[in-house]
Amino acid sequence: MLCKFILIANATTDMNPNNTSLERNEIVQIIINQLETIYNDPRKELTVSKVFDVNEAKAAASTFSFNQANDAKEVMQHTINSIKGVGVQTTHPSYLGLFNPRPNFPSVMADVINSYLNPQLAVYSHAPFASEIERLVIKEFCKKFGYTEKNSDGTFCTGGAESNLTAVLCALQFHFPNFSEEGITGFKKLPTIYCSAESHHSVEKAARIVGLGKRSVRKVAVNEDLSIDTEALKLQIVADRKENYLPFMIVGTAGTTGPGAIDNLVNMSEISKEEKLWFHVDAAYGGGAIITDIKHLLIGIEHSDSITLDLHKFFSVPMATSLFLTSDTSVLHQIFGVRTAYMPADGDPTQVIDPYVHSIQWSRRFIGLKIYLPLAVFGWEGYSKMLNHQIEMGHTMRRLLTANGWTIENQSEFPIVCFTHPDLKEDDKIIQDIVNSLNDSGATWMSTYPINGKLTLRVQIANYDTQVNDIEKFIVALEEEKLHLSELAF
Ligand SMILES: *Cc1c(COP(=O)(O)O)cnc(C)c1O
Repeated sequence: MLCKFILIANATTDMNPNNTSLERNEIVQIIINQLETIYNDPRKELTVSKVFDVNEAKAAASTFSFNQANDAKEVMQHTINSIKGVGVQTTHPSYLGLFNPRPNFPSVMADVINSYLNPQLAVYSHAPFASEIERLVIKEFCKKFGYTEKNSDGTFCTGGAESNLTAVLCALQFHFPNFSEEGITGFKKLPTIYCSAESHHSVEKAARIVGLGKRSVRKVAVNEDLSIDTEALKLQIVADRKENYLPFMIVGTAGTTGPGAIDNLVNMSEISKEEKLWFHVDAAYGGGAIITDIKHLLIGIEHSDSITLDLHKFFSVPMATSLFLTSDTSVLHQIFGVRTAYMPADGDPTQVIDPYVHSIQWSRRFIGLKIYLPLAVFGWEGYSKMLNHQIEMGHTMRRLLTANGWTIENQSEFPIVCFTHPDLKEDDKIIQDIVNSLNDSGATWMSTYPINGKLTLRVQIANYDTQVNDIEKFIVALEEEKLHLSELAF
């Protein structure tokens, strides 16, 4: 049986230790060489984006048949070429899109280590070191956000959507202690969540998942700076209490996904205290500011009951790395605590926490390693530098755009810039055409975002290696495109 297995494994160049390491090394080398081209000279070799072609993607995806064995080197080479050739290169320094970072090297190695060793973090006893690392990192981040040592808890999640879902579940459990037993059948009125009209749609998705539905999310109007109107928020809560609603949660956003607006966290925390509501801060992107020169923008976050922080955004680590933090040390256990006969329960519950009774996930990847390794390698100071550089590049972008006659339409200190130009006469179609045309050219990938009913061009710097010359290059391409398209239009 074993012999047969080894034979099959050899035939397919498995990572079996009995296999020739030569072949394995060769494959690793192919992968590294291919990836290096992104890092070493991306400015010459690669275009950021390509006109999207479904047929090309389908053809590339069906190159190899599963009805036969295929050469491992060919399969891997083809896969890398296809990822690079068909789609948007989010790690490119000229990618100016949507919070997708270029992952730093230690965090990339974390993914490699995780995949090789595959530690299972469902229970503490299977991976005590990994579990302790995650607890340590959670505590450190809680401290940064101003939670006290005694009041800090949390769990690693796959993304902001899961972190926000965790927040909604904690808020329900906190407010309605019978929730884990009775679920939504225990409610006679509709429990309601309050967030701004600019908040992320994962809040609404979470409401749908827990069974409350979209109607339970009350989207409050925003001020001119696109932060939540806290007077309107208060009035809405008071009005709802008189109707068939049960307010239980307020969600503040620190760095909205479009223009990077920050809600007034101080006011919101006061309202949540007066109204006895769970106060969650969705700081998926903007939470990174806590280790930068613009930390003051997050004042009030220390009074929150919970925080969402996506490390796979501002912190430049690979996808599927998010933190849910909470200052309530019992709620995660109340909502997720289950016991089964087949899971080992050998830890002293006062000493260790089994992650599977503390979070949505059961089997768990060592997600925390992706932030532990870069933190241990760079230290907080090195990390701050990396994030401050991106903030600095945002200022450079604003400065160069303004110098060229563009007007900045969002008020943000994050490297998120929404802008337009008087020559474009608020013409949404031309703005969209400029963006499409720039993206199709491969020079960049950027987006658009409507601000107060007007479409704007939107760029965001998410790459710690985006430099002044990349921004200058972008401005040149943008100016050319504007000239070209506005000549055609007017
Ligand atoms: C990105 C984002 C989310 C969703 O996070 P994912 O990691 O994409 O699941 C939630 N809220 C805000 C404010 C975001 O920017």
